[in-house]
Amino acid sequence: MKILDLIFPQNVKCIFCSKEVDEYGICKECYEKLPFITGKTCIKCGGKSGDPNVCIECKNSRHEFEQVFSILEYSGDTKQKILAFKQNKRKNIGVAFSELVGEYFEKLNIPFDVILPVPIHENRLKERGYNQSEILLQRIENTYGRVYKNIFVRTKDTPHQTGLSKEHRENNLKNAFKVLDKSKIKNKTVLLFDDVYTTGSTFDECAKTLKKCGAFKVYGLCLCRSPIKISKILNND
Ligand SMILES: [Zn+2]
Ligand SMILES: [Zn+2]
Repeated sequence: MKILDLIFPQNVKCIFCSKEVDEYGICKECYEKLPFITGKTCIKCGGKSGDPNVCIECKNSRHEFEQVFSILEYSGDTKQKILAFKQNKRKNIGVAFSELVGEYFEKLNIPFDVILPVPIHENRLKERGYNQSEILLQRIENTYGRVYKNIFVRTKDTPHQTGLSKEHRENNLKNAFKVLDKSKIKNKTVLLFDDVYTTGSTFDECAKTLKKCGAFKVYGLCLCRSPIKISKILNND
């Protein structure tokens, strides 16, 4: 064994370009190319809105959550990696992104009491082997704690939501979640975490359930936000 192997025991490769890295699995060059959501963002969903306050999607919906923070746009290579992470059991992709989620979280200035991953149904868990949101929360869990994995569950096995309308999604998700230990969230400010925000239906249904069970406020954090349709932005006003 070489001495360097003792210092850097893992051969970590960048999840995008496969270059060897000694930090977490995204090299500097690829990190700089990530589609971070910056500029004018929606105060409700954190999406790139092209509007100073609320995006056109949020203007037309009544969200149950206070606010969602969105880190990256769900597009291009990032989207491909997230899909590989979820569909091809490429767990290392989630571990790399968990560092990015941790970095972002440290800058949030809201006093959360509890962090909850959006739960997946046990059938999906068997199929995938892990809850992607739990992996993405790994860094936060290690440095900050307060990530509760077993008090909030999904009792309804909903079909894949891809391509479904907002109304359809909402119907599928009705009463899909359950709080197992209400004492952990009672009067608490909860931060819910999900990998991808598409229409906000999942965050809404979760927030509704959590508030019904006594949560004081529910915020959301997601790694990726689906791009808000440009036509919708242009047609705004
Ligand atoms: Zn790279
Ligand atoms: Zn919005």
